[in-house]
Amino acid sequence: MTETLDIQITKTTHSRLQETDFDNLPFGKIFSDHMFVADYADGEWKNFQVIPYGEIGLSPAISALHYGQAFFEGIKAYKHADGKVVIFRPDKNAERFNKSAERLCMPTLPEDIFLQSLAAVVDIDRDWVPTQDNHALYIRPFMFATDPFLGVQPSATYKYMVLTCPVGPYFSKTLRVKIETNFTRAAEGGMGFAKAAGNYASSMLPGKTAVDEGFDQLIWTDARDHAYIEEMGAANAMFVLDGKLVTPSTQSTILKGVTRDTVIKLAQEWGVPVEERRVSVAEIVEGAKNGKLTDAFGAGTAATIAPVGSISYNGEEYFLIDPKEREFSQKVLKTLNDIKYGVIPDTHGWNFPV
Ligand code: PMP
Repeated sequence: MTETLDIQITKTTHSRLQETDFDNLPFGKIFSDHMFVADYADGEWKNFQVIPYGEIGLSPAISALHYGQAFFEGIKAYKHADGKVVIFRPDKNAERFNKSAERLCMPTLPEDIFLQSLAAVVDIDRDWVPTQDNHALYIRPFMFATDPFLGVQPSATYKYMVLTCPVGPYFSKTLRVKIETNFTRAAEGGMGFAKAAGNYASSMLPGKTAVDEGFDQLIWTDARDHAYIEEMGAANAMFVLDGKLVTPSTQSTILKGVTRDTVIKLAQEWGVPVEERRVSVAEIVEGAKNGKLTDAFGAGTAATIAPVGSISYNGEEYFLIDPKEREFSQKVLKTLNDIKYGVIPDTHGWNFPV
């Protein structure tokens, strides 16, 4: 049975809501009024609090800063036309949160604490959930090591926090992507399946290099041969090839995306054949050349369904059909939005009311 968490709430004395321009919401820069904080010490989670968003004091020796014992999650809350606020599939993020914790040798967080912490911050800042099309309240739970100790070993103390940001769409255009054949995001036995902060640190240089070359995003390939597709930036790579939804299977190098899982479930319900398997660069390039690749997109909470306009490989650019003419991703995007924003009934139980 789930026990109600004893959360100490301190409300802000000065809300920034009125001074926030909801028509201009750069991703991840505007924070709502409150945040959630909890501490792990002596083998247990304690001090559950909702406090005003702001700076926190930390020792410069905390091991998160030196050795990267830190990870996060990304989730969204949506507002329906009747004012109801829902969080989309947070139980899946709770599960992944603990997979990340285990891999980074950090304490797990009981699912009910995770869900109640999300509900607490979204509830207190429900007026921050935007109402414009394709907007949402982005929820960022994260955990980091707080032992002030420079020895390389797992910390004994940690902080768990949740921030929220009102956001608009992450990508506003069709993406020009390149297949990365030099850098690697994750190798087998590594931590690609975890949402470890370090995975994103290692992606910065390759990402910046791709942008400097004129691309919007890159497609990661396997560490061994750069011959198989892994992910697309910070989203899962999905394709419609020869009438089938094809996506790399989630082994240890790939983040198990909640959006990816949702897209697969919808496709299966619609009778679209789904193949989760190793996807070779060769077959994607061949499909782009011969027209059998009729859809390609990144799937993620922030990215939603981000259509790929062209794929470059070894200096050649292959153009795909206009995203507006793509049957599958258009239908998936519309259905996903209709469920999240309460336009159609949530028959899957994916929306968690707050
Ligand atoms: N892969 C990576 C590397 C990511 O950072 C994300 C974003 N969380 C995803 C895939 C998509 O996952 P989700 O659909 O759960 O947001």
